[in-house]
Amino acid sequence: MAGIYIHIPFCKKKCHYCDFYKSTNLGPKVQLLYAMMQELEQRADELSGDSIQTIYFGGGTPSVLSSGEISMLLAQISRLYNVQTVAEITMECNPDDINPEYLGQIRETGVNRLSIGIQSFSAADLHLMNRRHSPQQAVDAVKMAQNAGFDNISMDLIYGLPGQDLQAWEENIRKAIDLDVQHISAYHLTYHGGTIFYEKLQTGTLRELPDELSLQQFKMLKEELAKAGFEQYEISNFARNQLYSKHNTGYWFQQKYLGIGPSAHSFDLETRRWNVSDNLKYIDGIEKGTNYFESEQLSRFDRYNDYVITRLRTIWGISEKDIDDEFVPHFRKNIDKYCRTGHILQKNQVWVLSEDGLFISDKIMEDLILLQS
Ligand code: SF4
Repeated sequence: MAGIYIHIPFCKKKCHYCDFYKSTNLGPKVQLLYAMMQELEQRADELSGDSIQTIYFGGGTPSVLSSGEISMLLAQISRLYNVQTVAEITMECNPDDINPEYLGQIRETGVNRLSIGIQSFSAADLHLMNRRHSPQQAVDAVKMAQNAGFDNISMDLIYGLPGQDLQAWEENIRKAIDLDVQHISAYHLTYHGGTIFYEKLQTGTLRELPDELSLQQFKMLKEELAKAGFEQYEISNFARNQLYSKHNTGYWFQQKYLGIGPSAHSFDLETRRWNVSDNLKYIDGIEKGTNYFESEQLSRFDRYNDYVITRLRTIWGISEKDIDDEFVPHFRKNIDKYCRTGHILQKNQVWVLSEDGLFISDKIMEDLILLQS
């Protein structure tokens, strides 16, 4: 089983917190799509023995593409890869890009899951983040997607925003629940270097939310979504009726994935590879046959660290049988102390975070990882 990730590196406007690779220059869009078609062709051998389970259009903003462009990429994947078992095709969308006609066309391409980048239902938050849409457009986008027949919709939310008090966050959660979606991803704001938010933090124009308030927001998120029938299957991901993101679950289960497009990452069980984060260099690399990516062979340490970091965040937890024998003593020594404090629960040689453990997961991960000497 494997996944294919397609990175659409364009945005009409840059959000102030975002560090994903994207460009606001849509000029080279067609050229770039053809380069991606070529990359799909050149790399088909890498997944020749695998059935594709998921396809994910991320970005950037995939909804800057027409339905015809999405179809073209999907047709290329179908032509070159084993897509008999594809169960999920996700497309990220921005609320202001979509309308009923577009959504109808997107459904016809085979996309069966939408991930809508809402982030907040508050006009003040949206303005602060430099988002393009209004609160009403966010609500309308979800309703339009439902009316178009999408029955697997995820929405992204951000909390821990400067000035966002508990009441404002509660209102966001309430509105998200009222929209009756199947999946919610809610991330705490991170101040990534190179973003406007980071600059503002450095100059004191923005202030981080106190840790205590962030924690209260996280607690409220968990409690309110649980009451509304959402299962927290990963620290930041909540699903109803087990409609987990199959694509992301593939990452957490260390399955292979092929990343196509500028800045996209790939993993083939042995190596990690990442394409250049530059549209023109990427196009040039594909067209002229020059190198457009870097890669690294994963050591046993890397594989252990990736495994514990990703799996600890999920309800599936860490299984001792998946750990290299050499690292088991280190793992046991460090996990046992959290079992004693009740932050980790252990059953049948599988370790999962307890409710209390969720709040200190970063600290637990820090203790579990191994530094290569
Ligand atoms: S958050 Fe999404 S829309 Fe905003 S800049 Fe980043 S990739 Fe573009």
